Amino acid sequence: MTTNQNGKINTVAILGAGPAASTLATLLVRAGLKVAMLHRPRTAPLLVGESLVPAIVLMLRELGVEDEVKSFSKYKPGACFDLFGQSDFPFLFKDFCGSFPPYAYNTPRIQFEETLLNNARKAGAKVFDVNAGLDRVGNSDRVQLNAETLAVLDDYFSGQPDLIVDATGRARLLPQLLDIPAREGGRKDTALFAHVDQTKLYQDGYVHSTRLDHGWSWRIPLPGRVSVGVVIGSEFLPQFGSTKEERYDNILKKDSMLRQVAGEAKRLTPVMEYTNYQLTSSRMVGDGWALVGDTAGFIDPVFSSGLFIGMTSAFELAKAIKNASAQAFQDYQKEVTHHLTIWHEIVSYYYNGRLFTSFNVGEKLRGNPLMKLAFPHINKHMGRIFLGAASTSPYSIKLLRLLVKHGLRGEDPQAMAIR
Ligand SMILES: Cc1cc2nc3c(=O)[nH]c(=O)nc-3n(C[C@H](O)[C@H](O)[C@H](O)COP(=O)(O)OP(=O)(O)OC[C@H]3O[C@@H](n4cnc5c(N)ncnc54)[C@H](O)[C@@H]3O)c2cc1C
Repeated sequence: MTTNQNGKINTVAILGAGPAASTLATLLVRAGLKVAMLHRPRTAPLLVGESLVPAIVLMLRELGVEDEVKSFSKYKPGACFDLFGQSDFPFLFKDFCGSFPPYAYNTPRIQFEETLLNNARKAGAKVFDVNAGLDRVGNSDRVQLNAETLAVLDDYFSGQPDLIVDATGRARLLPQLLDIPAREGGRKDTALFAHVDQTKLYQDGYVHSTRLDHGWSWRIPLPGRVSVGVVIGSEFLPQFGSTKEERYDNILKKDSMLRQVAGEAKRLTPVMEYTNYQLTSSRMVGDGWALVGDTAGFIDPVFSSGLFIGMTSAFELAKAIKNASAQAFQDYQKEVTHHLTIWHEIVSYYYNGRLFTSFNVGEKLRGNPLMKLAFPHINKHMGRIFLGAASTSPYSIKLLRLLVKHGLRGEDPQAMAIR
């Protein structure tokens, strides 16, 4: 890391202005650092990342934006999962929230992002509209802002900043330049998503996840509309049409589960497409640089954990930057890698059917005297997954592993696997 004579980092350029970037910028300027955000304004009409988990509410409070987010979002008291029919597995956050807030929000994502960015601006981060570019320094592990980007910064740092943080999301500007390898997840799905006028929802405000003939879908109730996404093996898509709009509209009408709840839905927006969204960068820190948010890694959206992981990584990185030691940055990388690895594991239990088979077995055994005692305990710890807090509790994860391995009582998890 580049530090001054006192071993401190004083100036930071953050590439990108998504939620991870804005969170980090706010925390750093509050700590007295000079921060520039290099912002390439969005052109997409809508963005994914609309369903928050309760663990994020704590961060919104710390950033001082919860009231504003609440003013344009929909209150989210829980989540439910339909594997066979209507709301087979509902989870009400207040049943197991412990010290976490018993709610979260479903939020129009572009407004959410603007709120965080304005908050960073108000705190004192300087925002430059620029498509940021980097150069590699020789063959080394170092990067620097390129000449065009420095020109836009107009000598804001009097040269290069002490630290460059890449928060460019899935663009992964810096890892692409340094050729940093990443571990990809096994699934090769495509997500198609749009906003529609209405769908059937079994629980008010809940995010509904439904298993489809192929893949699964989300329904996120937003003020005045519903976000509907379908996540499907890419090989199944051609049978639904040739354009993404045809494919999306046909899946809503033809899938045996989705047509019952969204077959009559009228699409209000274009269809957005995402592919390849399970990835962990093999390195997240280097000589004068660090990665944060999706640039460091991202996982499948099924448990709405993306923003939680991204914003948590911003809080962790802010601590490392304030500390400025090489060890603090290594610890940051270890922590984020661990977080992503745990979530990849949890998500895999959703896809292979083990998670909900074990929940189902638990439900069936509810009358059993031993289970009557154990059930509240298990419920509390499994509920942490839906709060977004699973990865912070080694005990909850151990219990989860035990249940998905030994708690199926001979039931075939394939019956609940995502096809
Ligand atoms: C299908 C799908 C559904 C999802 N659903 C959810 C959900 O319901 N809940 C949830 O919590 N998460 C969800 N996620 C994950 C979530 O969207 C991401 O984790 C989150 O957006 C990451 O935030 P970020 O700030 O790291 O990156 P981003 O939000 O991607 O921000 C990156 C920013 O960098 C900018 N940028 C890129 N290149 C440059 C450049 N050269 N110069 C300047 N700026 C640049 C981009 O324009 C963008 O503004 C979903 C993801 C997918 C794929």
